[in-house]
Amino acid sequence: MDFELTKEQSMIRKMVRDFAEDVIKPRAVKMDKEATFPLDIFEQMGELGLLGIPFPESYGGSGGDTLSYAIAVEEIGRICGGTGLSYAAAVSLGASPIYYFGTEEQKKEFLTPLAEGKALGAFGLTEPNAGSDAGGTKTTAILDGDSYIINGEKCFITNASFAKTIIVTAVTGKDAKGKNIISAIIVPTETEGVKITNNYDKMGVRASDTAEVVLENVRVPKENLLGDPQKGFKQFLYTLDGGRISIAALGLGIAQASLEKALEYAKERKQFGKSISDFQAIQFKLADISMEVELARNMVYKAAWLKDHDKPFTKESAYAKLYATETAFRSANQAIQIHGGYGYMREYEVERYLRDAKLLEIGEGTSEIQRLVIARQLGC
Ligand SMILES: Cc1cc2nc3c(=O)[nH]c(=O)nc-3n(C[C@H](O)[C@H](O)[C@H](O)COP(=O)(O)OP(=O)(O)OC[C@H]3O[C@@H](n4cnc5c(N)ncnc54)[C@H](O)[C@@H]3O)c2cc1C
Repeated sequence: MDFELTKEQSMIRKMVRDFAEDVIKPRAVKMDKEATFPLDIFEQMGELGLLGIPFPESYGGSGGDTLSYAIAVEEIGRICGGTGLSYAAAVSLGASPIYYFGTEEQKKEFLTPLAEGKALGAFGLTEPNAGSDAGGTKTTAILDGDSYIINGEKCFITNASFAKTIIVTAVTGKDAKGKNIISAIIVPTETEGVKITNNYDKMGVRASDTAEVVLENVRVPKENLLGDPQKGFKQFLYTLDGGRISIAALGLGIAQASLEKALEYAKERKQFGKSISDFQAIQFKLADISMEVELARNMVYKAAWLKDHDKPFTKESAYAKLYATETAFRSANQAIQIHGGYGYMREYEVERYLRDAKLLEIGEGTSEIQRLVIARQLGC
């Protein structure tokens, strides 16, 4: 076994950490307060090649691996959960399905601008009445000559307001058993009939754009269908397995930030004539956070490693997502506790970590759904 990062992976960590510290950190508090999406930061991330880390250079990517990408998400998440979420969604959900399942033409036309960071992508699976039960999708795509006509409504879609394309899941027919066939279709957002509104006032990840997408008689060429129409459901399960590694990495970043802030504060803050880090109760909290961060990192990197080595990773990505995101929430909560009353004040940032971490236990499959995925992998 080799726990050492490669030279490239270490370089990516350093580059992304420097970028996040220099460019994102000075704006993170304001972006959270005002709920503004940092489009200009994404343009810079595109120039650095971050939007294309796991894609080949032939499609505008950087030719890196999943582990390098997870490290990049971790480093951005360490500074700003909202920016981290939009980054993870753009790569894992907006672009990756085209790389996994797209035709050569689709990769050239749709993946390349996303990987080059010249455009943002989004993934529209969730509907008002189909969340955890994604099989309950009501959106339909009906073949009419050479086009699909799409009607339906998607909610909570990350990056949709700024996206050039949204990969939309829709019912395209029935199988032999009369069950709905769900397929994925690439929908350019400028197509007539696509209405995108971002009116959500969120608890956390406020720098991330979240929007509602209404599709009314949206006509797209039938060539925009992604992958095998009969296997759309399986395809998005695979996409979500991959996406979970990035959400886990984001949780890891927030947990790491919580540890660093809590440790720094505990050393500085004096009560009863000594630093609070001299009290065993505080030391034990810090020891627990530190151990959990290490465990979360091992799980996230192992899931990424498995994916990079074409080994099954469904169970491990669910482990990583479940554990790292719950670790993020626990670590942020303890970081607030260690800060006492100051931790409750926005200025100290740890309360933002808690609000951001909460989303990670919900998006890309709730903690309950991760436990279901793991149980199914155990054969239950
Ligand atoms: C900020 C944000 C960004 C998002 N981004 C995207 C995106 O880009 N694209 C996208 O498609 N979606 C996105 N989502 C949607 C997200 O994936 C869903 O909210 C999530 O999957 C849960 O679905 P739901 O909200 O409908 O909750 P529900 O499915 O209604 O779940 C409610 C509760 O019931 C539990 N539950 C449901 N079924 C079971 C079961 N079988 N067993 C045990 N418990 C169960 C859940 O765990 C949860 O606790 C986003 C959501 C948010 C808040």
